[in-house]
Amino acid sequence: MFVQVALALPLRRLFDYRLPETQACHPGCRVEVTFGRQKLIGLVVKIVEQSAYPADKIKPIHQVLDEAPIYSQQMLKTLAWLQQYYLCPPGEVYVNLLPKKLKNGAPTQLLAEPIWQVVDGAKPPAGRAYKQQALFHLLKKLGPTAQSLLKEDGFSLAQINQLADKQLIEQNSDFLKNKQVEIQPSEFELTSEQQQVIDNIQANENFAVHLVQGVTGSGKTEVYMRLMAEALAQNKQVLILVPEIGLTPQTLQRFQQRFHCQMSVLHSELNDSERHNAWLKAWLGISRIIIGTRSAVMVPAAELGLIVLDEEHDASYKQQDGLRYNARDVAIKRAADQNCPIVLGSATPSLESLANAKAGKFNWLHLTKRATAKLPPKPQLLDIKHQPLQVGLAFGVVELIEKHLAAGQQVLVFLNRRGYSPALICHECGWVAECPRCDKHLTYHRNTQLVNCHHCGYYARPPAQCAECGSSQIVDWGIGTEQLEEWMQQRFPEANPVRIDRDSVRRKGELENKLNAIQAGEHKLLIGTQMLAKGHHFPQLTLTVIVNLDNALYSTDFRAAEKMAQLLVQVAGRAGRAEKTGQVVVQTHFPNHNYLNTLIEKGYTELAQLLLKEREDSQLPPYQYWCILRMEAQNQQVVEQVSQQVDSLFNQYICQHYQGVEVFANMPAPQEKRAGKYRQIIIFSAKQRSMLNAAMNQLTASLEQNDFAQKVRWLFDVDPLDL
Ligand code: ADP
Ligand code: ZN
Ligand code: ZN
Repeated sequence: MFVQVALALPLRRLFDYRLPETQACHPGCRVEVTFGRQKLIGLVVKIVEQSAYPADKIKPIHQVLDEAPIYSQQMLKTLAWLQQYYLCPPGEVYVNLLPKKLKNGAPTQLLAEPIWQVVDGAKPPAGRAYKQQALFHLLKKLGPTAQSLLKEDGFSLAQINQLADKQLIEQNSDFLKNKQVEIQPSEFELTSEQQQVIDNIQANENFAVHLVQGVTGSGKTEVYMRLMAEALAQNKQVLILVPEIGLTPQTLQRFQQRFHCQMSVLHSELNDSERHNAWLKAWLGISRIIIGTRSAVMVPAAELGLIVLDEEHDASYKQQDGLRYNARDVAIKRAADQNCPIVLGSATPSLESLANAKAGKFNWLHLTKRATAKLPPKPQLLDIKHQPLQVGLAFGVVELIEKHLAAGQQVLVFLNRRGYSPALICHECGWVAECPRCDKHLTYHRNTQLVNCHHCGYYARPPAQCAECGSSQIVDWGIGTEQLEEWMQQRFPEANPVRIDRDSVRRKGELENKLNAIQAGEHKLLIGTQMLAKGHHFPQLTLTVIVNLDNALYSTDFRAAEKMAQLLVQVAGRAGRAEKTGQVVVQTHFPNHNYLNTLIEKGYTELAQLLLKEREDSQLPPYQYWCILRMEAQNQQVVEQVSQQVDSLFNQYICQHYQGVEVFANMPAPQEKRAGKYRQIIIFSAKQRSMLNAAMNQLTASLEQNDFAQKVRWLFDVDPLDL
């Protein structure tokens, strides 16, 4: 008998070892093996009777690390699918998805972690320690809570320790292995729409994909929580997936207050110990609720009974390096393997999901009304052709901002470009400062006094002289959020403008603090990128200005219009419960553009139908499946040559066996040079997913055997979101 082991190596195969004589070894267990001169930790995928290698060359397993498998048979099947579907080396799925400590061989044991509860009869701390008071009250409501979760709730270790020093809270060690769930009643009656959606979903307890399309504020979260309550009451675990920055302490606290049970929260900011515990608690069935960003989709919670994926259109569900999976598609596969329902929620579903809903593959459900407030206002288009602009804003818009501020209301100005100015140019000859490693303009950041490449992260001091003509007249060009903020501070100082973008909220808790200050009305003027567009409601907001979305109307990216529409609806939806009617103004050079008018006059779904029709006419995804072979090399000729060779290899030897699979394009990537490498892409397309996948598996095997392919770095991007 031989053991086939997945190792974290960039090689697309499993490695054979001999069964150990003294230890039991099952698929799904971690093992330590010798590989060359190294000792590596891998995962047993299969036990087989024969090996293709000569028996005397096969080394024994050095050590089996797990008595019982980490992955169940069922989970191994899902992993096998993942590897086959995304055409990646086995190590990427079987090994690299494990938390780091487990990957390094740590035992599957929880690390000690304090669980806190309020001391019986304790009174809240006196004085002005607001955070400590908030923590005290929250803990009192929640009952015993793991320290890691309190951190996610926005509290620091210092605040926890201060309460403990005052003997107001204490540790409860009994709670650690407690799997109980106590469900608190909801504070509202469901609306009839919510009730219908829930009844419809609960009519079928088997696998089905439910697409809940609900306007912002329609109470999707309440729908999720009712469904969760049902699943939890049946002793099932629940997985909630949110986009990259979707999970704020408020959202988490909403779940915690409704469900008193252990939870795992997983996202990219966790340290190794936190991730280890969160993963293991889900795996051990201690956490009944698992909330996380995309990577949480593969956490092996064995008793999974419901998956919810919020903001399903969000591009952050697609991983853009390594294993390039889309967590939405993987979540659907997991729900199918687990035979449980999955709910996809969004105000603006992706065209992929809408096409599936139209085709009857997804159960399409609607929430058309806001639970408590009026619908967000209809956007108005403002023609800025021939208009003088100040920091990109028309005079009329500045006056409008002034009017809303004067009435004591909040205003949001949305600009999807961070930094001070997106380019530095030579006033004499027009030379543009570019990233030396990419083809792209460098963005000037005034706060840091540096130029920064938003594509590869390169930064440097701004050039003092033009590289072409030597002139020292370097001027900045275009408007970024920093510059808008600076201008607003001078023009509307009393409104206390605040900027929210990736640069202004780098530190943990900073976004939270700013959002709280906005909620409290400390800032009347909000300037932000799409970071501000997601998930938050601002009750006092009555005017939203969208500075510019025109790029999307004539973009070469066929998804640009879809993304533009999603963003516009999302930004427009930020106005809170405004009793006063709000206003959304979109500046544009193309007020007659069909996309904009369809979106505004007829709504997102109508525009989506129009875009889907266009996609169908040009046979673009979702009407064709795509797989991109990405190649990159230091040398431009090399990468072009290799792409030609791959192209002919495919056309001569492969395509005739796989009907309908074609090379749709073979071209330089739209951003040809990035981080010093030249990049070329081949887009393969087919009407049938399985046919495309089979052809690509064949191509992968050929590329691995061909020397020419080794001259470039190559990988597959299945169902790519961009080129
Ligand atoms: P969405 O997730 O669709 O944007 P939320 O679930 O956040 O919407 O709900 C928006 C607001 O409406 C929240 O403040 C929520 O508490 C409230 N809400 C939800 N359902 C109801 C209901 N049935 N009755 C009253 N308020 C509700
Ligand atoms: Zn010059
Ligand atoms: Zn760069």
